[in-house]
Amino acid sequence: MKIQPIRGTHDIFGKNLDKYNSICDEVKRVASIFNFSEIKTPIFESTDLFSKQLGESSDVVLKEMYTFQDRNGESLTLRPEYTTPMIRAAISNNLINLLPCKIFGIGQMFRRERPQKGRYRQFNQINFENFGTKDSFADIELILLANKILSTLLPNIKIELYLNSLGDKDSLIKYKTKLSTFLKENKKFLSKESQSKIDNNPLRILDSKNSDDQLLISKAPLLIEFLNKQALKQYEDIKKSLDSLKISYLEDNSLVRGLDYYCHTVFEFKTKSLGSQDTLIGGGRYDGLIANLGGKDIPGIGWAGGIERIMLLMNNTETSLNLIHFAILDEKFREHALFAYNLVAKKNYPVFWNFKYNLKKSLSKANEANAKYIIIIGEEEFNINKYKVKNLITGEQNLVNIDKILSFVK
Ligand code: AMP
Repeated sequence: MKIQPIRGTHDIFGKNLDKYNSICDEVKRVASIFNFSEIKTPIFESTDLFSKQLGESSDVVLKEMYTFQDRNGESLTLRPEYTTPMIRAAISNNLINLLPCKIFGIGQMFRRERPQKGRYRQFNQINFENFGTKDSFADIELILLANKILSTLLPNIKIELYLNSLGDKDSLIKYKTKLSTFLKENKKFLSKESQSKIDNNPLRILDSKNSDDQLLISKAPLLIEFLNKQALKQYEDIKKSLDSLKISYLEDNSLVRGLDYYCHTVFEFKTKSLGSQDTLIGGGRYDGLIANLGGKDIPGIGWAGGIERIMLLMNNTETSLNLIHFAILDEKFREHALFAYNLVAKKNYPVFWNFKYNLKKSLSKANEANAKYIIIIGEEEFNINKYKVKNLITGEQNLVNIDKILSFVK
């Protein structure tokens, strides 16, 4: 019986794994510069953690969660997002006693979406969160950090930052009522899918990609007009800081994000190089969420980025370039080769033993593996107790004693 992978999942190996690892390395490097500590949380949590906070009518809760009943009847869910588990973990482990609490995580998320390029049912996310401050510096720092990671990993890709403010919860509720009245009056101009969201989730209609929906949305009341003075000032402060840091952004009044917990600043880093799944990083403020989950009433802000989407845009990295390949021309020279193999591996050089015992096949294997050096061990080398070290890039070769090998592979 041949078992197929589950739809929307994928195995990560070879060049893709190199990319995955270099993303994680860069994320950890930048996290330590800005003093964020790593946290790993379980991939499943109590279903209640997600269903109420993400919004009963959000797409994630309505149709995308992998929820199952444990043997004791408890309802569990594979995490579809990272913010709520991070908050749960910070509360469970008293991490919010010392503020600000700045944490980050890297891990798998699960959503039962329709698979396509850049959209999977199991995918990996990077998540940064800052709990405990309403200071707009926290918003700026998180944007700066995201910008640094993306520009290092994707130096040649045009990425744009979209920005909006949702205001506080009260103004958002007022806006939702106004918007749904407008949408109800113009229901006939909306797509079937958007019509079904008018009552429960009118904000989601704002980021519909359907052209009829977009035409109507362009005439809808604007959220910015509902923001109070304080919220407007917060938004202006953020824009001013971005201007002075020369980080360009586009204001997008229809940017609302998919989950219910957001308020005030929301942002997305998008690119036109990916097709329809064009958001690399999305985030925002979620004042009130920490208290809702049983913690102190402190504000919070964070973002999540999709590792697979970044991988799709990265060039192949030639990480195996320093590889030292071994060409052993006959099995009887294995022992002699083993001394050299052990020596270079001990010094932490990447080594490759190809099991071919044939020069031509070894050379073609070395080529395939992108090796920089090849150490050849044949009759001649064996008889005089030496090794032929060849640089495959320059063509230079030397016949050397074992204690000289390392000086030729530097
Ligand atoms: P979200 O929590 O939906 O804002 O997602 C944050 C980021 O995770 C997105 O900007 C994407 O880069 C990534 N992402 C979300 N859903 C998926 C998915 N189904 N497959 C791959 N990446 C995803």
